[in-house]
Amino acid sequence: MNWDGKRVTVAGLGVSGIPAARVLRGLGAEVTVVNDGDDERARAQAAELEQLGVTVRLGDGATLPEGTELVVTAPGWRPDKPLFLAAEAAGVEIWGDVELAWRLRGPDAAPWLAVTGTNGKTTTVRMLASILEAAGLRAPAVGNIGVSLIDAVTGDETYDVLAVELSSYQLHWAPSVRAHSGAVLNLAPDHLDWHGSMEAYTAAKGRVYEGNRVACVYNTADEATEKLVREADVEEGCRAIGFTLATPGPSQLGVVDGLLVDRAFVENRHAQAQELAEVSDINPPAPHNIANALAAAALARAYGVPPTAVRDGLRAFRPDAHRIEHVLDTGGVSYIDDSKATNTHAAEASLAAYDPIVWIAGGLAKGAVFDELVAGAAGRLRGVVLMGADRALIREALTRHAPDVPVVDLERTDTGAMSAAVLHAARLARPGDTVLLAPACASMDMFVNYNKRGEAFADAVRALAAEHA
Ligand code: ADP
Repeated sequence: MNWDGKRVTVAGLGVSGIPAARVLRGLGAEVTVVNDGDDERARAQAAELEQLGVTVRLGDGATLPEGTELVVTAPGWRPDKPLFLAAEAAGVEIWGDVELAWRLRGPDAAPWLAVTGTNGKTTTVRMLASILEAAGLRAPAVGNIGVSLIDAVTGDETYDVLAVELSSYQLHWAPSVRAHSGAVLNLAPDHLDWHGSMEAYTAAKGRVYEGNRVACVYNTADEATEKLVREADVEEGCRAIGFTLATPGPSQLGVVDGLLVDRAFVENRHAQAQELAEVSDINPPAPHNIANALAAAALARAYGVPPTAVRDGLRAFRPDAHRIEHVLDTGGVSYIDDSKATNTHAAEASLAAYDPIVWIAGGLAKGAVFDELVAGAAGRLRGVVLMGADRALIREALTRHAPDVPVVDLERTDTGAMSAAVLHAARLARPGDTVLLAPACASMDMFVNYNKRGEAFADAVRALAAEHA
């Protein structure tokens, strides 16, 4: 592709917009960045880009600059924005950051092993990178996890293979990406306001399978993921590989007697099974996380990694902060921070991993319904502490499905609220119990983000333990 003099509009300053503008300018394109915001930070970023010869328009992300030949957008921008409608009307292509990275790859570029799903993406991609690295490959985790794909693809470092996390937004804007192998971990309603419908959200996720060469990895417990594989247009010879928490059938990876077992990437899948690792090698070995490990193992095996690397990679893996993170034990009670459980599907997974539980929940519900979640966990709840803007919705579900479980309803939303929640939880808990922060809600009503919410929880727990010491 000849970029010289090509007029490209980059939509959005930010983690993907800035590298996109820089790289395209370096290739000789005439780049204009448009951005809705016009604050101090945006101005500083604009000044840096302007020095490179990039034009920046702050405070107007809606108008398509005259003569635009291509739009490159930040993934989060909604498809119904006036800028995109204008581009479509003018017959101008719109690429996301992932599409741009894909198009900028060199001829010997590293293949992509791609992961999407409603929950577990970051964990799975990091497990995958850890397994690939244990096999001696240069294989970073990139994509929707802080490391820009554009930087990974155009930088000086060379890689053997990339472990790529793709969000539904990124997939929506990436029509021609063709991964070596892809996985959809699970599908539950999320981001529906952005995509417009569950069908559109599902279709975006399904794009991860398009053009796969070796394996389409799906979740046998989630029929929708298998359906997406059936519908995908893949390369001749590409296989459908299932992962399951039960005994695997042919062409599946699963669990037998505490072992992760591969019945897909073996010489004779009807007669043979290859042991990969022990369930206890997974950190933490909660059911949903075993599923993540199996998906990561399937992609790694599709790439040709030996069984020992799966074991070593899983052993070396450490989960990111605030994802079912064990804070400490005090008074015989274990305190777990799963602040990243920002939707009901994620909270369901961590509630399934402990018994009995004192559950701390609440925040911004984003339109969620809590009946199924509460009904499923009711038998394991010692007590519940509710906080945040939409706590009444969870309280009502508790009244319907767990009327005997004691509930503390915290009205306060000040900075000390989390300490109060932890104190109430500690009072409800008995030795052997787990106090679990798994809010099933977003954090922004009370905290800057889920990280801050998790930190507030961990600080409160440590203060409590110090008092008892
Ligand atoms: P993502 O990148 O998709 O947001 P993460 O790996 O960061 O996923 O995990 C987010 C949260 O989702 C975790 O804290 C946990 O509560 C939950 N989770 C992780 N894996 C799964 C899974 N396979 N199924 C359901 N929930 C999960």
